[in-house]
Amino acid sequence: FTEGDFYQQHFDPQEYMKEFYTLSDGQGQPNTFLTQSLRSLFKMFSLDGLRGDTLIDVGCGPTIYQLLSACEHFQEIIALDYTDQNRRELERWLKGEPGAFDWRPVVKYVCELEGDREKWAEKEEKLRRKVKQVLKCDVTKANPTDPVSLPPADCIVSTLCLEGACKDLATFRSALRNISALVKPGGHLVMLTVLGETYYAFNQQVFSCLRLEKNEVEEAVEGAGFEVKFAETQPWPPGDIRADCDALLSLVARK
Ligand code: SAH
Repeated sequence: FTEGDFYQQHFDPQEYMKEFYTLSDGQGQPNTFLTQSLRSLFKMFSLDGLRGDTLIDVGCGPTIYQLLSACEHFQEIIALDYTDQNRRELERWLKGEPGAFDWRPVVKYVCELEGDREKWAEKEEKLRRKVKQVLKCDVTKANPTDPVSLPPADCIVSTLCLEGACKDLATFRSALRNISALVKPGGHLVMLTVLGETYYAFNQQVFSCLRLEKNEVEEAVEGAGFEVKFAETQPWPPGDIRADCDALLSLVARK
Protein backbone atom coordinates (compact mmCIF):
# COMPACT_ATOMS: atom_id res chain seq x y z
CA PHE A 1 0.00 0.00 0.00
CA THR A 2 1.39 3.41 -0.96
CA GLU A 3 1.28 5.51 2.21
CA GLY A 4 2.40 9.06 3.05
CA ASP A 5 6.09 8.59 2.37
CA PHE A 6 5.39 7.21 -1.09
CA TYR A 7 3.41 10.39 -1.79
CA GLN A 8 6.31 12.45 -0.54
CA GLN A 9 8.66 10.65 -2.93
CA HIS A 10 6.53 10.07 -6.01
CA PHE A 11 3.50 12.37 -6.15
CA ASP A 12 3.97 14.99 -8.86
CA PRO A 13 1.44 17.77 -8.18
CA GLN A 14 1.59 19.35 -11.66
CA GLU A 15 1.07 16.01 -13.41
CA TYR A 16 -1.77 15.13 -11.00
CA MET A 17 -3.64 18.34 -11.77
CA LYS A 18 -3.03 18.03 -15.51
CA GLU A 19 -4.47 14.51 -15.42
CA PHE A 20 -7.52 15.05 -13.22
CA TYR A 21 -8.33 18.75 -13.03
CA THR A 22 -8.67 20.10 -16.53
CA LEU A 23 -12.27 20.51 -17.70
CA SER A 24 -11.72 18.54 -20.88
CA ASP A 25 -9.12 15.97 -21.83
CA GLY A 26 -6.75 16.07 -24.79
CA GLN A 27 -9.52 14.79 -27.09
CA GLY A 28 -11.95 17.48 -25.93
CA GLN A 29 -14.01 15.01 -23.88
CA PRO A 30 -15.58 16.60 -20.79
CA ASN A 31 -14.09 15.62 -17.44
CA THR A 32 -17.26 14.32 -15.78
CA PHE A 33 -15.38 13.25 -12.66
CA LEU A 34 -14.45 16.89 -12.07
CA THR A 35 -17.80 18.45 -12.97
CA GLN A 36 -19.66 15.93 -10.77
CA SER A 37 -17.33 16.73 -7.87
CA LEU A 38 -17.83 20.48 -8.33
CA ARG A 39 -21.62 20.08 -8.47
CA SER A 40 -21.64 17.91 -5.34
CA LEU A 41 -19.47 20.36 -3.42
CA PHE A 42 -21.72 23.23 -4.48
CA LYS A 43 -24.77 21.29 -3.32
CA MET A 44 -23.23 20.22 0.00
CA PHE A 45 -21.96 23.69 0.90
CA SER A 46 -25.44 25.08 0.13
CA LEU A 47 -27.03 22.91 2.85
CA ASP A 48 -28.41 24.56 5.99
CA GLY A 49 -25.85 25.12 8.72
CA LEU A 50 -22.77 24.83 6.51
CA ARG A 51 -21.36 28.15 7.49
CA GLY A 52 -19.17 29.58 10.20
CA ASP A 53 -15.82 31.18 10.91
CA THR A 54 -13.28 28.46 10.27
CA LEU A 55 -12.85 25.63 7.80
CA ILE A 56 -10.03 23.08 7.74
CA ASP A 57 -9.21 21.19 4.52
CA VAL A 58 -7.65 17.82 5.37
CA GLY A 59 -5.38 16.36 2.68
CA CYS A 60 -5.80 19.35 0.41
CA GLY A 61 -3.14 18.18 -2.02
CA PRO A 62 -2.15 20.83 -4.57
CA THR A 63 -5.79 21.58 -5.48
CA ILE A 64 -8.31 24.33 -4.74
CA TYR A 65 -11.49 23.08 -6.47
CA GLN A 66 -12.77 21.69 -3.14
CA LEU A 67 -12.65 25.19 -1.59
CA LEU A 68 -14.42 27.16 -4.33
CA SER A 69 -17.97 26.81 -2.99
CA ALA A 70 -16.78 26.45 0.60
CA CYS A 71 -15.05 29.85 0.63
CA GLU A 72 -18.42 31.61 0.24
CA HIS A 73 -19.53 30.31 3.67
CA PHE A 74 -16.45 30.48 5.92
CA GLN A 75 -14.21 33.36 6.89
CA GLU A 76 -10.89 31.62 7.46
CA ILE A 77 -9.48 28.49 5.87
CA ILE A 78 -6.57 26.32 6.96
CA ALA A 79 -5.29 23.77 4.44
CA LEU A 80 -3.42 20.64 5.56
CA ASP A 81 -1.43 18.05 3.65
CA TYR A 82 1.25 15.46 4.28
CA THR A 83 3.36 16.14 1.23
CA ASP A 84 5.79 19.09 1.02
CA GLN A 85 5.54 19.50 -2.76
CA ASN A 86 1.73 19.59 -2.62
CA ARG A 87 1.65 22.29 0.03
CA ARG A 88 4.26 24.25 -1.93
CA GLU A 89 2.24 23.91 -5.15
CA LEU A 90 -0.89 25.17 -3.37
CA GLU A 91 1.06 28.14 -1.99
CA ARG A 92 2.24 28.88 -5.48
CA TRP A 93 -1.35 29.39 -6.66
CA LEU A 94 -2.30 31.28 -3.50
CA LYS A 95 0.53 33.74 -4.07
CA GLY A 96 -0.12 33.96 -7.81
CA GLU A 97 3.44 32.88 -8.59
CA PRO A 98 4.52 32.09 -12.16
CA GLY A 99 3.97 28.49 -13.23
CA ALA A 100 1.02 27.95 -10.87
CA PHE A 101 -1.77 25.75 -12.21
CA ASP A 102 -4.47 27.60 -14.15
CA TRP A 103 -7.70 27.04 -12.21
CA ARG A 104 -9.64 29.73 -14.11
CA PRO A 105 -11.81 27.36 -16.20
CA VAL A 106 -12.77 25.48 -13.02
CA VAL A 107 -13.41 28.69 -11.06
CA LYS A 108 -15.62 29.96 -13.90
CA TYR A 109 -17.55 26.68 -13.92
CA VAL A 110 -18.27 26.97 -10.18
CA CYS A 111 -19.25 30.64 -10.54
CA GLU A 112 -21.71 29.60 -13.22
CA LEU A 113 -23.21 26.97 -10.86
CA GLU A 114 -23.51 29.71 -8.26
CA GLY A 115 -25.30 31.98 -10.72
CA ASP A 116 -22.72 34.40 -12.10
CA ARG A 117 -19.83 33.24 -14.25
CA GLU A 118 -18.45 36.77 -14.35
CA LYS A 119 -17.52 36.67 -10.65
CA TRP A 120 -14.56 34.32 -11.17
CA ALA A 121 -11.83 36.88 -10.47
CA GLU A 122 -13.61 37.99 -7.31
CA LYS A 123 -13.85 34.38 -6.13
CA GLU A 124 -10.17 33.75 -6.77
CA GLU A 125 -9.32 36.86 -4.78
CA LYS A 126 -11.66 35.81 -1.96
CA LEU A 127 -10.18 32.33 -1.73
CA ARG A 128 -6.60 33.64 -1.78
CA ARG A 129 -7.49 36.05 1.01
CA LYS A 130 -9.25 33.45 3.17
CA VAL A 131 -6.61 30.71 3.19
CA LYS A 132 -4.60 31.77 6.22
CA GLN A 133 -2.28 28.80 6.71
CA VAL A 134 -1.02 25.76 4.82
CA LEU A 135 0.34 23.19 7.28
CA LYS A 136 1.79 19.70 7.41
CA CYS A 137 -0.52 16.98 8.65
CA ASP A 138 -0.70 13.24 9.05
CA VAL A 139 -4.19 11.81 9.43
CA THR A 140 -2.80 8.67 11.03
CA LYS A 141 -1.63 10.69 14.06
CA ALA A 142 -3.92 11.30 17.03
CA ASN A 143 -3.22 15.01 16.56
CA PRO A 144 -2.87 15.24 12.77
CA THR A 145 -1.10 18.62 12.93
CA ASP A 146 1.34 17.64 15.71
CA PRO A 147 3.31 19.55 17.07
CA VAL A 148 0.83 22.35 16.19
CA SER A 149 -2.52 22.30 18.02
CA LEU A 150 -5.29 23.97 16.06
CA PRO A 151 -8.43 25.26 17.72
CA PRO A 152 -11.38 23.11 16.56
CA ALA A 153 -13.02 24.45 13.40
CA ASP A 154 -16.65 24.89 12.39
CA CYS A 155 -16.21 22.56 9.46
CA ILE A 156 -13.72 20.16 7.92
CA VAL A 157 -13.63 19.19 4.28
CA SER A 158 -11.66 16.23 2.98
CA THR A 159 -11.60 15.13 -0.65
CA LEU A 160 -10.00 11.93 -1.94
CA CYS A 161 -7.52 11.79 0.93
CA LEU A 162 -8.37 9.16 3.54
CA GLU A 163 -8.88 6.30 1.08
CA GLY A 164 -5.39 6.97 -0.27
CA ALA A 165 -3.79 7.47 3.14
CA CYS A 166 -5.24 4.46 4.99
CA LYS A 167 -4.09 0.93 4.29
CA ASP A 168 -7.04 -0.84 5.90
CA LEU A 169 -10.47 -0.20 7.36
CA ALA A 170 -9.15 -0.01 10.93
CA THR A 171 -6.72 2.76 9.92
CA PHE A 172 -9.51 4.53 8.01
CA ARG A 173 -11.75 4.44 11.09
CA SER A 174 -9.02 5.74 13.34
CA ALA A 175 -8.09 8.49 10.83
CA LEU A 176 -11.71 9.66 10.91
CA ARG A 177 -11.56 9.80 14.70
CA ASN A 178 -8.31 11.76 14.46
CA ILE A 179 -9.71 14.36 12.09
CA SER A 180 -12.97 14.51 14.05
CA ALA A 181 -10.96 16.14 16.83
CA LEU A 182 -10.28 19.06 14.46
CA VAL A 183 -13.97 20.04 14.38
CA LYS A 184 -16.21 21.50 17.10
CA PRO A 185 -19.24 19.65 18.43
CA GLY A 186 -22.12 20.83 16.22
CA GLY A 187 -19.68 21.40 13.34
CA HIS A 188 -19.68 19.59 10.02
CA LEU A 189 -17.64 17.16 7.99
CA VAL A 190 -17.85 17.36 4.18
CA MET A 191 -16.31 14.46 2.32
CA LEU A 192 -15.77 13.30 -1.24
CA THR A 193 -14.63 9.67 -1.39
CA VAL A 194 -14.23 7.11 -4.14
CA LEU A 195 -15.93 3.74 -3.67
CA GLY A 196 -14.67 0.36 -4.83
CA GLU A 197 -11.29 1.71 -5.91
CA THR A 198 -8.04 -0.17 -5.35
CA TYR A 199 -5.70 2.10 -7.34
CA TYR A 200 -5.42 5.28 -9.33
CA ALA A 201 -2.65 6.19 -11.68
CA PHE A 202 -1.16 9.18 -13.46
CA ASN A 203 2.23 9.99 -14.95
CA GLN A 204 3.13 6.28 -14.91
CA GLN A 205 2.83 6.10 -11.13
CA VAL A 206 0.28 3.90 -9.40
CA PHE A 207 -1.15 4.82 -6.00
CA SER A 208 -3.05 2.39 -3.77
CA CYS A 209 -6.53 3.07 -2.61
CA LEU A 210 -8.52 1.44 0.18
CA ARG A 211 -11.49 -0.36 -1.38
CA LEU A 212 -14.51 1.10 0.39
CA GLU A 213 -18.24 0.55 0.29
CA LYS A 214 -20.77 3.22 1.10
CA ASN A 215 -21.93 1.59 4.34
CA GLU A 216 -18.32 1.20 5.53
CA VAL A 217 -17.71 4.92 5.08
CA GLU A 218 -20.95 5.85 6.80
CA GLU A 219 -20.25 3.52 9.73
CA ALA A 220 -16.73 4.89 10.12
CA VAL A 221 -18.08 8.46 10.05
CA GLU A 222 -20.66 7.58 12.70
CA GLY A 223 -18.01 5.77 14.74
CA ALA A 224 -16.02 9.02 14.80
CA GLY A 225 -18.91 10.83 16.50
CA PHE A 226 -20.84 12.22 13.54
CA GLU A 227 -24.40 11.92 12.36
CA VAL A 228 -24.71 11.53 8.60
CA LYS A 229 -26.95 14.26 7.18
CA PHE A 230 -26.48 13.77 3.45
CA ALA A 231 -24.98 11.01 1.33
CA GLU A 232 -25.16 10.64 -2.41
CA THR A 233 -23.31 8.41 -4.85
CA GLN A 234 -22.65 9.08 -8.50
CA PRO A 235 -21.44 6.34 -10.81
CA TRP A 236 -17.88 6.67 -12.08
CA PRO A 237 -17.81 7.03 -15.85
CA PRO A 238 -17.00 3.53 -17.17
CA GLY A 239 -13.93 2.76 -19.22
CA ASP A 240 -11.64 5.12 -17.34
CA ILE A 241 -8.21 3.53 -17.25
CA ARG A 242 -6.85 6.02 -14.71
CA ALA A 243 -8.65 4.29 -11.81
CA ASP A 244 -10.80 1.25 -11.05
CA CYS A 245 -13.37 3.14 -9.03
CA ASP A 246 -17.14 2.32 -9.08
CA ALA A 247 -18.61 5.53 -7.75
CA LEU A 248 -18.03 8.84 -6.05
CA LEU A 249 -19.59 9.30 -2.61
CA SER A 250 -20.47 12.80 -1.37
CA LEU A 251 -21.22 12.98 2.32
CA VAL A 252 -22.09 15.60 4.92
CA ALA A 253 -22.17 14.77 8.62
CA ARG A 254 -22.65 16.76 11.81
CA LYS A 255 -20.61 16.14 14.97
N1 SAH B 1 -7.68 16.74 -1.88
C1 SAH B 1 -6.98 16.68 -3.16
C2 SAH B 1 -5.78 15.73 -3.15
C3 SAH B 1 -6.09 14.26 -3.05
S1 SAH B 1 -4.64 13.28 -3.39
C4 SAH B 1 -7.98 16.30 -4.25
O1 SAH B 1 -9.18 16.25 -3.96
O2 SAH B 1 -7.58 16.12 -5.39
C5 SAH B 1 -4.36 12.55 -1.81
C6 SAH B 1 -3.64 13.49 -0.86
O3 SAH B 1 -3.54 12.84 0.41
C7 SAH B 1 -2.23 13.85 -1.31
O4 SAH B 1 -2.10 15.24 -1.37
C8 SAH B 1 -1.34 13.27 -0.19
O5 SAH B 1 -0.22 14.08 0.08
C9 SAH B 1 -2.30 13.23 0.98
N2 SAH B 1 -1.92 12.25 2.01
C10 SAH B 1 -1.40 11.00 1.83
N3 SAH B 1 -1.17 10.43 3.04
C11 SAH B 1 -1.56 11.33 3.98
C12 SAH B 1 -1.57 11.31 5.41
N4 SAH B 1 -1.14 10.27 6.11
N5 SAH B 1 -2.05 12.42 6.04
C13 SAH B 1 -2.49 13.49 5.34
N6 SAH B 1 -2.51 13.55 4.00
C14 SAH B 1 -2.05 12.48 3.33
